[in-house]
Amino acid sequence: MEKKNLDWGSLGFAYTRTDLRYVSNYKNGAWDEGCLTDQADITMSECACVLQYAQTCFEGLKAYTTEDGRIVCFRPDLNAQRMADSCRRLRMPVFPEDRFVDAVIQTVRANAQWVPPYGSGATLYIRPFMFGSDAIIGVKPATEYQFRVFATPVGPYFKGGFKALRVRISDLDRAAPRGTGHVKAGLNYAMSLYNIMDAHDQGYDENVYVDSATRTHIEETGGANIIFLKGNKLVTPNSPTILPSITRRSLVQVAQEYLGMEVEERPVALEEIGEFDECGLCGTAAVISPVGIIDDHGKEIRYAGMGEGIRKLYDTLTGIQMGRIPAPEGWIQVIA
Ligand SMILES: *Cc1c(COP(=O)(O)O)cnc(C)c1O
Repeated sequence: MEKKNLDWGSLGFAYTRTDLRYVSNYKNGAWDEGCLTDQADITMSECACVLQYAQTCFEGLKAYTTEDGRIVCFRPDLNAQRMADSCRRLRMPVFPEDRFVDAVIQTVRANAQWVPPYGSGATLYIRPFMFGSDAIIGVKPATEYQFRVFATPVGPYFKGGFKALRVRISDLDRAAPRGTGHVKAGLNYAMSLYNIMDAHDQGYDENVYVDSATRTHIEETGGANIIFLKGNKLVTPNSPTILPSITRRSLVQVAQEYLGMEVEERPVALEEIGEFDECGLCGTAAVISPVGIIDDHGKEIRYAGMGEGIRKLYDTLTGIQMGRIPAPEGWIQVIA
């Protein structure tokens, strides 16, 4: 198969319109059969529920080429499950999980020319999402919805080496105790934009959110979960208000089963974070981004950056993803 003529290594994390995307519409209580379309633009009512009341949620995953030349993606069944959870919380109809995985596969197959070659570091980022599309002015859920999956090639996350991040403990909150922090709702991102721009203005890469009820425990950043390492132990916050990262859940299993590490998933107090050796942010985009400094209101806590532990976790998980290391059952969805 002929690949698109792109300079894969110099792509950034930006939208490029690809050939086909998957669309299914929900009306009169049922999803239609869905299809691939070349229509990248959407026309809808000015009063669509998504535009007025932000009734939308999304997912993010990647397809890539393995060492032996297959096109695969990583654990799409977990994205399907998580999107179903998001939909239930936002009173949106669930797109059946098996159909979700099928829609991802169809979208990637239809854009196979856009899947970056092995070794380029680039990937095909896949964005499934859903929104309430009919006119709603009184506050209530929409009655019509669209589920859509598009794909866009993105460049290697770490160009020219791993840069350790400098992050700050945020004074603003991300998630209320019984709110929507645990689902992938667009609204969680809309309200984080002010704070991320402010962080950048102040010279930080990210905001680290603490629990908004007591402000004593670490939660996550705006778009990534957090892991800490001390010796042979991985510690990661568990909290009902963090988004259950698939990367973090996979790293926990890799730490235990591949690297023989001890894992603690528990509340992590702000007071104890100075005791760890390494810290990393984990999510689909970067897998793990090493943290060099957490700034807690002028008190700088320093970590090893790309230390030995984070390096081993990163190499093992990316090795599994790229087909260099045998994967646990069900982790790699072969597409072509
Ligand atoms: C998507 C997301 C993550 C990362 O999840 P992955 O499944 O690992 O990509 C972490 N935190 C938030 C708030 C997110 O929205």
